[in-house]
Amino acid sequence: MKELIVSLSEKNRQNKFLKNKLELRCKCGYNETLTYYDFLSAGEYNFGQPVSIVSPFISESIYDETITATPILLTKKCPDCGEDIVSVFPVSLENLVPILNMKPPDPQMYG
Ligand SMILES: [Zn+2]
Repeated sequence: MKELIVSLSEKNRQNKFLKNKLELRCKCGYNETLTYYDFLSAGEYNFGQPVSIVSPFISESIYDETITATPILLTKKCPDCGEDIVSVFPVSLENLVPILNMKPPDPQMYG
């Protein structure tokens, strides 16, 4: 699964979504800003335990619909103090894959 994410992010490096930034903060005060692309293409992350959450797209007639969300966890050694900085990617694995699979609009289509 990680290989898939890495190759999808490399294929979509122009995707605006991948230009969002993520801040890593260590308890010693060190902080670093990475783009989603840096984070995802580096492959230095693990997947957490999938959790069930209530779907935000619930319709009025369906109650308690749950979806699975797998957190993507980045662990990086702090260059200042050597402790691990653990950060959770803001988008779950299940939501990330469709975003990366989205094709950018074809400029020819409107030409
Ligand atoms: Zn530190």
